[in-house]
Amino acid sequence: MDMSASSQRIIVVGAGLGGLTLALSLLREGFEVTVLEQAATLGEVGAGIQISANGARVLHELGLADALGRVAFHPERGEMRHWQSGETLIVRPLGDASVERFGFPYYHMHRADFHGVLEAGVRSAALGSIRLNTKVTAIEQDGDGVRVRIDSGETIAGDVAVGCDGIHSAVRETLFGADAPRFTGCIAWRATIPVERLPKGHVRPVASNWIGKGGHFVHYYLRRGELVNCVGVLEGQDWSAESWSSEGDPQEFLADFQDWHEDLHVLIRNADRCFRWGLFDREPMPRWSEGRVTLLGDACHPMLPFMAQGAVMGIEDAHTLMRCLQANADPTAAVRRYENLRRERTAIVQRMARENMTFFHNPDVDDLEERLNSHRDAHMWLYGFDVTDQEFAA
Ligand SMILES: Cc1cc2nc3c(=O)[nH]c(=O)nc-3n(C[C@H](O)[C@H](O)[C@H](O)COP(=O)(O)OP(=O)(O)OC[C@H]3O[C@@H](n4cnc5c(N)ncnc54)[C@H](O)[C@@H]3O)c2cc1C
Repeated sequence: MDMSASSQRIIVVGAGLGGLTLALSLLREGFEVTVLEQAATLGEVGAGIQISANGARVLHELGLADALGRVAFHPERGEMRHWQSGETLIVRPLGDASVERFGFPYYHMHRADFHGVLEAGVRSAALGSIRLNTKVTAIEQDGDGVRVRIDSGETIAGDVAVGCDGIHSAVRETLFGADAPRFTGCIAWRATIPVERLPKGHVRPVASNWIGKGGHFVHYYLRRGELVNCVGVLEGQDWSAESWSSEGDPQEFLADFQDWHEDLHVLIRNADRCFRWGLFDREPMPRWSEGRVTLLGDACHPMLPFMAQGAVMGIEDAHTLMRCLQANADPTAAVRRYENLRRERTAIVQRMARENMTFFHNPDVDDLEERLNSHRDAHMWLYGFDVTDQEFAA
């Protein structure tokens, strides 16, 4: 059945960064939206996230520029440094240069702050649109619509269902069967440190990535510069923990980076708590959708965080899907068009993120200069993309 956008009921499974961006995009355009979230409370982990201009474009279009400006930090530039000498290998202008070149800023945010901005947007557009404590267990569909079953046994009817339910997506399993994500052999240590604990000027207002033997270490400011976010990645590790993240010991974090530059030791020594994450990804999927049911964000393209684009790709997905649903009265045609517009770009980024594992973890190579330049070009390609300027009609 064909229908106008305003009469379509969209069921969004998962209230992470991807699901909430989709919900807000749809609500602002008059769709009826229900977000189903398994957790009892909404929130995000205590860590940082970088959002580049290609994602900021969508967030600004959603009217969030002021709210983001109140919680974010804008780095002057990105730089890559040598793990032992500290030498700066390459610089990527961000700050004002991001706005001049791409029209939108580069954001560093605490995940909880960013998630809070999205949640406030969704709730002010439609107060009761998010249902917590609601785990999706199955989805059925026919020519007239979808029926989403939740753990209480209740069934919720809609026109389209979107699995924004992360790397372990139940919706993905409903569509394509069970299949585990791949452990990449990398673990990430994460910590956030109050800036007043650090020697004055210890961290410059830049996004720093120290590349080294078998690992890399990223740090940057969050929350208007009140916190420093640290992520130390090491490869060749085991991951036997049941959960994909667990609290770790700062002494172990320090020991893992003992051969690295002293500036990083100063950071780690000032961390009260730290967390250890197993990093998982998947191969690009040949299909994301079946009829009126599709996927978005980590549910369909989980990637290593080595391009800082996982959430940004979900934000681009959200805008694209909303516009496809608007431009195509037939929901199955809309979903097909969305998938066609998104699959290739996200697969390229998934592959780039994997390739960066070799590049970031092996800095002492002859062709380093060439690699650094192609890394910078990849970022220009990514950030310059205008997701709003596409042919959304099938
Ligand atoms: C170390 C690290 C650093 C990163 N840095 C960046 C960065 O700088 N920039 C960037 O863009 N990306 C970054 N990423 C990637 C980014 O974090 C993810 O891509 C993004 O958070 C995924 O969002 P999502 O909404 O798709 O999924 P998720 O955040 O996983 O959300 C899924 C939601 O669905 C819910 N859910 C799951 N199953 C069900 C169910 N059956 N029923 C109902 N609800 C359900 C979950 O509870 C959750 O709320 C990083 C990742 C890591 C690990």
